Formats: sequence, structure tokens, C-alpha cells
Amino acid sequence: MAEYDFDLFIIGAGSGGVRAARLASKLGKKVAIAEEYRFGGTCVIRGCVPKKLMVFASSYPKIFKEGKGYGWDQKKASFSWNKFSKSMNFEIDRLEEIYNDLLISSHVKVFRQKAKLYNSNSVILDDKTKITAKYILIATGGEPQKLEIEGGNLTISSNDVFNLPSLPKKMIIIGGGYIACEFASIFNGLGVEVTLLYRGDRILRGFDDDIRENIEVSLIQKGINISNNCFPTLIRSNNKKLELFINKNSHLKTDVILSAIGRKPKITNLGLDNVSLDLAKNGAIKVNEFQQTSTKSIYAIGDVTDRLNLTPVAIRDAKALISTLFGNKKQSPDHKLVPTAIFTKPEVGTVGLTEKEARNNFEVKIYKTLFSSLGSRITNNKDKIMMKLVVCNKTDKILGCHIVGDGASEMIQMFGISMKMGVKKKDLDSTCAVHPTLSEEIVTLS
Ligand code: NDP
Repeated sequence: MAEYDFDLFIIGAGSGGVRAARLASKLGKKVAIAEEYRFGGTCVIRGCVPKKLMVFASSYPKIFKEGKGYGWDQKKASFSWNKFSKSMNFEIDRLEEIYNDLLISSHVKVFRQKAKLYNSNSVILDDKTKITAKYILIATGGEPQKLEIEGGNLTISSNDVFNLPSLPKKMIIIGGGYIACEFASIFNGLGVEVTLLYRGDRILRGFDDDIRENIEVSLIQKGINISNNCFPTLIRSNNKKLELFINKNSHLKTDVILSAIGRKPKITNLGLDNVSLDLAKNGAIKVNEFQQTSTKSIYAIGDVTDRLNLTPVAIRDAKALISTLFGNKKQSPDHKLVPTAIFTKPEVGTVGLTEKEARNNFEVKIYKTLFSSLGSRITNNKDKIMMKLVVCNKTDKILGCHIVGDGASEMIQMFGISMKMGVKKKDLDSTCAVHPTLSEEIVTLS
């Protein structure tokens, strides 16, 4: 009889947890996974996937509008939030089913309930069953940060935004990061009057300054009200409307307030009293380079470790971990040069160092272009395409690439490959352009 019930017990069936389960099972290990909510985690159920569907839904008004410039004469289009919600939920259900099927066909034992740490080699389920495992993996992800002001409970979070009963007329979004900017774009596209309140000088702190400036200009041009240096102090509910008081001694009335002020590691009710794990100040589970916690048999991957909170990163964390635990090779996840996108309109694609970060350590040369695309010339689209390369003077190596414009997310995925291979500016110079495209600009910058 085996010493433990399972070789690996995973808490959390999101992108990272499910990948780890399948990979370990493929290597012949006995694996179990527990999920208290739905399979697929934030990405599939209330993050990337439904968000991207909303991005698509909100893109049509622009297409209809711009079609006019190309001779299309369309009747007034209308949007049904209900119909869209049904389609979106249908797709999410389908994907969740696929996740479930993948686990079952991989012979992973699935527990559809909450699991807590019980001791260093066992967990306890909601129904009080205790299960032992050689290794325990925490892959519980993250959750929205709550707005800690009076009336903060009247706001919704990115978890709730997909389940709005109807499309509001007015929406205030608090925050200036990925989620705030993406939903500002989405609801603006769907015809909602959007106000974005950001506590700093300019949205998207941490991104390259040219991205920040160009996105701000574009969002404002589309009719989004952006109030910088602005933070909420009190929220009241008044006659089916919400009243939001801000630091500038004024207040705004709105239908819905979306709080997008960041996410935090999901560690509530995880049984942390039963096991000693080192945590960071914000609750992130501290791990070493091989994703091992301060308790030898317990590992953690993905957003709960608050390293780089992106779905593809959690998936790669899982791959590295399974190689370490059950493969022939100890592997640490590679978090360097991770390309990422913000699905605003226009999109952002970015990889590597910002100009500011690069200047701290290198002498750099900046190559930059700002232009109107051919496609937008005969429409009323005022968005500019911005492309920027941060190049090391000494080595000619490209340290950072930053793009604002339609298709930026697709472009940056491809550029990420070149960056990983150590692309130099001279390599771009020697690459022939594909004409007429937006991406050709990246190989013709001088
Ligand atoms: P971010 O950390 O990106 O942004 C949080 C924003 O809220 C910042 O602008 C921050 O301001 C502001 N803020 C923080 N606390 C307060 C407060 N108390 N009052 C007012 N404003 C506040 O978090 P998000 O929630 O946007 O996204 C979470 C993570 O999810 C991201 O880091 C990203 O990794 C991931 N994500 C990725 C996406 C993608 O890949 N496309 C899409 C969505 C999310 P300040 O700048 O001053 O700190």
C-alpha cells in the first residue's frame, strides 16, 4: 500500500493547477485536484476569456462607424446585452466542460469542494475527508482587492462585471491598471458613459511612458472621461443611483462603480494556521526558485505567489514544477522577457524594458514612430499607431519593444520570440518588410 493517498494534491483548478495535474498524471503519478468553484479559474470563468469576448462585442460600433468611410451605408445597429451574455456564458460553460473532461480523461481524481491544508502532507476537504499526499500544490490564484472606504461594498469587481443584469447608462471605474483600462474601453465601446478615476498622474503606471501617453490620448478621444490624481472617499446609494465622493471635494452620480484597484493572492480559508508557510506582506506565498514554500512538501504556483500574474506564466510555472517534482530535471520557471498585451482600443503590446528602466542600466538608443494607419485614413479614426524600440548602444541588442495600435497583441507575441533569441537592431534592418502592414514599421525604423 502506498505511503500516501496521492503523489500530488492540487488546491485550485485554474490554468496553473489543471496544467500541473495533467502533466503529473501523464508521467504516471497519482494526482488529485480540488476546486471549490468552477474549473478554469480566473482566466476562463471571470477573466481573460469572457473579457476578450466582451472586447469583441464592444468592437462592432467602431466597425459600423468606420464602414461609412468605405462606402457602407448601414441602418442603426442595436446591441442586446442579454443575447450577448447568453452567448458568452454558453462559451464559458463549454470551456469549463473541456477542462473537466481533460482532467477526467487524464485520470485525475477531482474533488468539487474546498480543500484546506491540514498538515504538511495532508489536506482536509469541506466534507471533513482527510487526504494525504507526498506533495501539495497551492494554485488558488488571486482575487480582487476590496475598496476600503465607506460604501466600498456598493462597488462591483471584475468578478461581477460579467454578470451585470443589464448594460448601465453610466459607469465609473476606479483604478488605472490593466483591468480598469480594458473595461473602460469595453464599456465605452458598448455605448456606456465611462469615467475613469485614477489616483496617480497618468494611467498604466509601470508601462513605458509612450504607451501611457498614447493610450490616455486615445481613450479620451473615444469619449472616456479620465480624472487623474483622483481617488474615492465615500460612496452612497441614493434612489437607485450611486453617489461617489472624491478627494477634489466633488461628487459624481452613476449607475455602476467598478473597482479595479488590483488583485491579491487568494489565501483565505486555506488552512494556513495548520501549516507554517512564509508569506509576503500582501499574503503572497513565498517560494524559492523551484516554487517550493517554506514547508518542504508544499509548493505554490501562479497568482497566489504574486510574481507575474498572467495565465501563460501560471501554465509555465506548472510545467517547470512538474519537471522538478517528477521529471528528470529540476527547473525554475522563466519569468524573463514575458510579452504581454492590454486589450484596450487600441491595443497595447509590450515586451522587455521600458525606456526608463533601460536608461538606469544601459546607454540606449530609442527608435520610435507615431503614425496613422492606411486603414484609418478614410475613416474618422484618429487613433495613432505607436511603435518604439529601446536598443542597447553597446551591443545593438533590443531591450524593449512597445506597441500601441490594432493588432499590437498579435505583433508582440511574434516579437517576443525574437527577443528571447536576443534579436539585435541589425537583424530587424536585414529583415524585409511585408507591405502594406502595420508591423512592417518595426523593421523599417531608423
Ligand atoms: P493593477 O495592479 O494593474 O492596477 C491597479 C490599479 O489600481 C492601479 O492603477 C493602482 O494605482 C490603483 N489602485 C490601487 N489601490 C488603489 C486604491 N486604494 N484606491 C485607488 N486606486 C488604487 O491591477 P488590475 O486589477 O488592473 O490587474 C491585476 C493583474 O491582473 C495585473 O497586474 C495583471 O497581471 C493581470 N491582468 C492581466 C491582463 C492582461 O494580460 N491583459 C488583463 C487583466 C489583468 P497605482 O498605479 O497608483 O498603484
